[in-house]
Amino acid sequence: MAICQDCDQEMGTATSCTVDAFVLQGRRYARQWTRRPIGPDGRCGDCGMVCGYHHTGCDLELCPRCGGQFISCGCTWADEDTESLVLLAGDTVVYPDGLAGLRVPPDRAEPWG
Ligand SMILES: [Zn+2]
Ligand SMILES: [Zn+2]
Ligand SMILES: [Zn+2]
Repeated sequence: MAICQDCDQEMGTATSCTVDAFVLQGRRYARQWTRRPIGPDGRCGDCGMVCGYHHTGCDLELCPRCGGQFISCGCTWADEDTESLVLLAGDTVVYPDGLAGLRVPPDRAEPWG
């Protein structure tokens, strides 16, 4: 397996990714918590997580904004050339890398839905 570039965990052994929210088009969305993995051996067949959050980029991640397949739904793009995706673990930005450690003010947090 490989190391998840966003949580720095080995995807074959980690229970869940630590990224728990996305900012898409300037709005914060909590990721969907997956209670059970889909794979036959108790792990997600694509990213290897057991339960919780898929590692970012997993084929099985559903978009918290539109409900489509996250890797292809297009919500991460503000327009054709500008990627709008920000990944959050708690209130800490983990992607883009240049913003690592930046805190997002709590008043910008919005519940999923
Ligand atoms: Zn991860
Ligand atoms: Zn997965
Ligand atoms: Zn979407």
